[in-house]
Amino acid sequence: MHGLMMDTPLVISSILRHAERNYGGREIVSVTADNPRHRYRYSDLCRRTRQLANALDKCALARGDRVATLAWNDYRHLEAYYAIGGAGYVCHTINPRLFAEQIVFIINHAADRILLTDPLFLPLLEKIAGKIGCIERYVVLTDDSHMPATTLKNAMSYESFIGSESESYEWPALDEKDAVALCYTSGTTGDPKGVLYNHRSTVLHAYAGIAPDVLNLSNRDCVLPVVPLFHVNAWGIPYSALMVGAKLVFPGPKMGDGETLYALMEGEDVTLSLGVPTVWMALLQYTEKAGKRLNKLQRTVIGGAAVPESMIRAFRDRHGVVVHQGWGMTEMSPLGTLNSLKAGMQEWPADDILRLQTKAGRGIYGVELRIVDDEQNELPWDGKAYGALQVRGPWICSDYFKLDGSAGAHTADGWFDTGDVATIDPDGFLAITDRTKDVIKSGGEWISSIQVENIAMGHPGVREAAVIGVPHAKWTERPLLVVVAAEGAKLDRDQMLAWFDGKIARWWLPDDVVFVDSIPHTATGKVKKIDLRRQFANYTLPTSPADF
Ligand code: ADP
Repeated sequence: MHGLMMDTPLVISSILRHAERNYGGREIVSVTADNPRHRYRYSDLCRRTRQLANALDKCALARGDRVATLAWNDYRHLEAYYAIGGAGYVCHTINPRLFAEQIVFIINHAADRILLTDPLFLPLLEKIAGKIGCIERYVVLTDDSHMPATTLKNAMSYESFIGSESESYEWPALDEKDAVALCYTSGTTGDPKGVLYNHRSTVLHAYAGIAPDVLNLSNRDCVLPVVPLFHVNAWGIPYSALMVGAKLVFPGPKMGDGETLYALMEGEDVTLSLGVPTVWMALLQYTEKAGKRLNKLQRTVIGGAAVPESMIRAFRDRHGVVVHQGWGMTEMSPLGTLNSLKAGMQEWPADDILRLQTKAGRGIYGVELRIVDDEQNELPWDGKAYGALQVRGPWICSDYFKLDGSAGAHTADGWFDTGDVATIDPDGFLAITDRTKDVIKSGGEWISSIQVENIAMGHPGVREAAVIGVPHAKWTERPLLVVVAAEGAKLDRDQMLAWFDGKIARWWLPDDVVFVDSIPHTATGKVKKIDLRRQFANYTLPTSPADF
C-alpha cells in the first residue's frame, strides 16, 4: 500500500522559488572581472535568472541539451546554474585550469551548444574555437561596456543576452530524475569522465549538506565558497545556501589571493568558508606575513585532499577557527563524510581532538560506506584494517556520461568503487590512507603517503610536501619525500629525516628527501603525483632504512 503523500518533484527551481519568497532581501556579494565589489539581493538573482531562462529558451535548445560555463565564482555564474538547470537544460561547468586539449575533449564529449564564459577566458577560447564546432553561441559574462573585442562567432555580452527578456518565467514541470548538471573529473589518468547529476540527487545532497553535523548551515551564516563553482557544484553550496537563505560572498578570479580573501572575510562578516588545502595555505601565509587575525570566520570546511594537522592547528591557535575536514568526489556530488565531534568528544583533551580532526570524518546520512579487501570481503571498522573504500547512495553516480558501464567503477552488487584506500574506526570516522594508485608498496606492505606527508607538513620549515613511491630493486617501492621549503627556512635532508624520529615506524621513513621550488598541482589544486612520479622515475635512492 502506498502512503498518501503528494508526489512533488525535487527540482532545483523549487529552491529558487523558496529563496525568493523567504529571503528576497539577503545579499550576494561578488568580485567579478568587471567589478571589484558587486552587490545585489536574492530577489535580483531570481529576477535575472528568469530573464536568462527566457533568453535560453529562444536558442532552440532541446530538453537535456548542454549549456557550458567557463567561469569563476560570481553572481552571474550562480544565475547560470539555476537558469540552465531549472529550464530543463544541463549546466556543464568546465574547469578553466584544465589543459586546453582536455577542455576541447570535454566540450566535444558533452556536445555543449552554448558557452557562457568569463571575459578572462576569451584568449583561450579563441585559440581552440576551431576545434569546438559544437558551440553555436558564446555569451561573455560582462556588460557591453566591458565587452572585449573577440574573433569568436556569435559572441555577445551576458547583459545584452538577458537585458530585454521578460522578468517572468514559468519554470517547467520537470521529472526529478532529469539531468541538471554535468561535471568532468579532472582525469589524472585517462580521459576526463562526465558525472551527470539529476535534480533529485542535487536537492537531496543540498538538504544533507545543511545538517548540523555536516555544514551546519543556517540563515544566520555568511558563506564564502572558495571552492569553485566548476569543482563539483562548489560542494553543493549554491543549492544549500539558497535553501536556508545564507548570505553569499564570491571571490571571482581572486580565489587564490590571500589578501582579497581576508578582506572579504572581515568586511562581509563571513562565518563559513570552504576550499581545498592549497587555498588555505595562501590565506594562512598572508595573515601570518601581514600580522592579521581572522576575527569573523568561525569555521572552514576543507576537503578534496588530506588536511595536514599543522593547518588545523594554525586555524585553531592563531585564528580561533574550527576546521571541519570533509571527503568526497565528483562522482558523489561530492559530499561523503564530514568531520564533526560526537557526543562526549568535546570533553577530550585539545590535542586528541586535533588528531581526530585529521581524519576525513563520519559518513553523512545518505551515503553508505564500506571497506573491502581484494576478495571483496568487508573489513571491520576498527581503525586499523584498511581496504578499498566503496560507497552507495542517491547522490552517487550510477555510471559515467556516455560510457555505458565500460568504466568498470561499480561492483557487481551495485556499490561505487572510489579508488581510495581507507580505515574506519569504531566511531565511524573514516581516514583516507591513499588513493589506490598513490599507495606505496614496500616489501608487500603498504605505506600511507598521506600520513607521512602530514608529519612532514608539521615541520615549521616546510611549505608543502609530497611523498611518492620510487621503484626499488629489493622492496618494490620506497618512499621519496619531495619538499618545498618555507620562505627563508634553512632545511637539509638530515634535519628533515630527524623530524620523523618517533613519529612513524622506521620502515615508513622516506629513503631520501629532495628539495624543489614547487610541486605540480592538478586543475583542482591537489598535488599531481603522477607528474612527480614521472619526474623522479629514475631517481637513485641511497641505502634504505628498511634495510636495517
Ligand atoms: P579530481 O580532483 O581528481 O578531479 P575529485 O575532486 O572528485 O576529483 O577528487 C576526489 C578524490 O580526492 C577522492 O577520491 C580522494 O582521493 C581525494 N580526497 C578528497 N577529500 C579528501 C580528504 N579529506 N582526504 C584525503 N583525500 C581526499
